[in-house]
Amino acid sequence: MTNKNVITCLDVSPDSDFSIYNIPFGIYSDTSITNHACSAIGDYIIDLYELANNGFLKINKDVFNLPFLNDFIQLGKPITNSIRLNIIDILSDHQSELITNTQLFNLVFKKQNQVNLLLPVRIGDYTDFYSSIDHAQNIGTMIRDPKNALMPNWKHLPVAYHGRASSICVSGHSFHRPKGQQKPADSELPIYGPTKLLDIELETAFVIGKSTQMGDSVSTDQADDYIFGMVLFNDWSARDIQTWEYVPLGPFLSKNFASTISPWIITLEALEPFRVKGYEQEPKLLPYLQYQGHKNIDIQLEVYLKPQNGSDNLLCSSNYKYLYYTMEQQLAHHTVNGCNINVGDLMASGTISGPNPSEYGSLMELTWRGTKPIILNDGSERKFVNDFDTITLNGFCKKNNLRIGFGSCKATVLPSN
Ligand code: MN
Repeated sequence: MTNKNVITCLDVSPDSDFSIYNIPFGIYSDTSITNHACSAIGDYIIDLYELANNGFLKINKDVFNLPFLNDFIQLGKPITNSIRLNIIDILSDHQSELITNTQLFNLVFKKQNQVNLLLPVRIGDYTDFYSSIDHAQNIGTMIRDPKNALMPNWKHLPVAYHGRASSICVSGHSFHRPKGQQKPADSELPIYGPTKLLDIELETAFVIGKSTQMGDSVSTDQADDYIFGMVLFNDWSARDIQTWEYVPLGPFLSKNFASTISPWIITLEALEPFRVKGYEQEPKLLPYLQYQGHKNIDIQLEVYLKPQNGSDNLLCSSNYKYLYYTMEQQLAHHTVNGCNINVGDLMASGTISGPNPSEYGSLMELTWRGTKPIILNDGSERKFVNDFDTITLNGFCKKNNLRIGFGSCKATVLPSN
């Protein structure tokens, strides 16, 4: 693909997340559409049902008239990739009737800020990994022992737990501060009430694009065939509930009340140009976790906090490339025992922290368990998330004049009900 500015009539700003090199997939609704599959270019969404209905895509249009992308993804990468390349070709044609025919243009292109972006996939199962070495080291230092911050298994396998799929919501939602059991340090017995330590976790997640049967395993070499694409993910966490409940089986009610994902699935193919070398993994891993090539990805990540009636404050900047384990290793590990996976399953990275304190991906780390509060631009202080705060995750890849982004992953906390 050349680097020419592909469409002139649809003004795509150089800092847009949705350049011609992206072409993500999502689902939208508006006053006249209940649910159509869509892509994005610049400030516009592209209605894929209308694109197919008007003969621009060689595919049964009905697959774009469903509440979720699962059936489209299920068609397989040879088809979904060719549709994506087809869309790129269509957008590259300056003489296209799509551009010159106003009626057709208005049917297919809609301003992104005038539609609702919906949850893109029906998520069957959700897994959360714990694959950032800086995050694991910070948490281990805080709650266990600075000298033995990593558990003995950490450098031998990508640690994970099975989470809750039903409470994963698309960007733009709000939820009530969760309540639960906490055990204050100065109390013999637990108490029940709204969490006082509501935290964020800066994560990404990948969407499974191909199912397996029970008993099958996916090798690190095959893994990319099974990964449709990625989204941003905020794994909201109630730290006081978590501290009391997590031994010995791990997170439960401290996590399952809400998680937020961004609405656009960025395809693995769009992310390929941004692959970088992964961590040197020492000690050497078991053969099923070893992999070939550059499998990490350079994705710049940011988290903002906006108080009610206030403005956005940058909390941290991190990068996906700081993960110790790659998605390919996570998927190989997830299936090595024969666990089956299904189209639409979501596998989250775990909190993505970098080596510098400005790169920590949770407030737990940024404020070091509340001991170093953050001062916001309105002068107020935060140790954890307050009621009516809005948290926004952004992510983008940039290399020379190539830029693609994820859009926003945003949610607002309401008081306990
Ligand atoms: Mn997490």
